[in-house]
Amino acid sequence: MNPVLDLPRLEGTAERGGALADFIWFRTGGPAEWLVKPCDVDDLAGFMSRLDPAITVMPVGVGSNLIVRDAGVPGIVVRLPKSFAKVSVDGDRVRAGAAAMGITVASKARDAGIGGLEFLRGIPGTVGGAVRMNAGAYGREVCDILVEAVLVLRDGSIETWPRERLGYTYRHSQVPDGAVVVEALFEGKPGEPSAIGAEMDRIAAEREASQPLRSRTGGSTFKNPPGTKAWQLIDAAGCRGLRIGDAQVSEKHCNFLLNLGKASAADIEALGEEVRRRVREQSGIMLEWEIQRVGRGSGEE
Ligand SMILES: Cc1cc2nc3c(=O)[nH]c(=O)nc-3n(C[C@H](O)[C@H](O)[C@H](O)COP(=O)(O)OP(=O)(O)OC[C@H]3O[C@@H](n4cnc5c(N)ncnc54)[C@H](O)[C@@H]3O)c2cc1C
Repeated sequence: MNPVLDLPRLEGTAERGGALADFIWFRTGGPAEWLVKPCDVDDLAGFMSRLDPAITVMPVGVGSNLIVRDAGVPGIVVRLPKSFAKVSVDGDRVRAGAAAMGITVASKARDAGIGGLEFLRGIPGTVGGAVRMNAGAYGREVCDILVEAVLVLRDGSIETWPRERLGYTYRHSQVPDGAVVVEALFEGKPGEPSAIGAEMDRIAAEREASQPLRSRTGGSTFKNPPGTKAWQLIDAAGCRGLRIGDAQVSEKHCNFLLNLGKASAADIEALGEEVRRRVREQSGIMLEWEIQRVGRGSGEE
């Protein structure tokens, strides 16, 4: 870790060594050097503008796509509190704060008779994480419904970026390093609330049947290589159920890794690397990580 950082003034809170494992889906990994929760957009922008540009800033949602390494994350981790979770409707558009959960946005759209956002029901993350990751399911992804996003850039400037500027590709965007998405504007199309609700229920039931939703996991571990499914390659390489310590390849869906209880982030990452090695040996294909691996491992400077 760096020497103690001298932080600029903040209306919200800044906790030194703030725990991330308390809420990250895997429930493991080290702390943030500083865990910062601004009280509103101006507070965040002011803080970022006064913060030494050499200090790294990493926003975090609910960590449903993260392995936080065991020695933690240097610099600032920004977690947006509930004041950033407001959701409102105007016509067939939904404006959502970046801390709102996907299910909340989908439900609000359903109640207002706005279709096309149902897939957000199945993604257990925040709007900020979804905009950054171009989260998607069932043939739709964020770039299909996003009109624009409001970002606080690393220098503290507040900018509204139209979808085109975000450079979307599969599970990737060009949200700049250190920028925090604070709000998104989504657009759907008119629909019957009962039909939208039925589609959301179908998505929920399908997820329940096929994914280890109640486990400590990080979602799909590897991207699907062109023309094939990561889980099929992992299965064919004999990795279903494979374990390193308390880290296990899910028996239910083998593109998910699980923390069975006391797995360290190093165990989980080592298991992922072992899966990649075996898949490459068996199929010649090198899987690419979809889960974001952040922070420092034990023993790293
Ligand atoms: C059971 C399960 C099922 C899943 N199913 C799917 C699925 O079907 N489709 C899919 O796409 N994903 C899926 N995921 C992965 C995950 O839910 C998504 O990637 C989600 O968008 C992550 O949101 P988050 O808020 O938890 O982001 P985090 O995991 O906290 O962060 C992910 C990335 O987004 C960045 N980020 C987070 N918040 C912000 C912000 N406000 N501003 C800028 N950057 C930010 C982080 O720095 C990090 O790089 C699944 C995960 C689980 C556990």
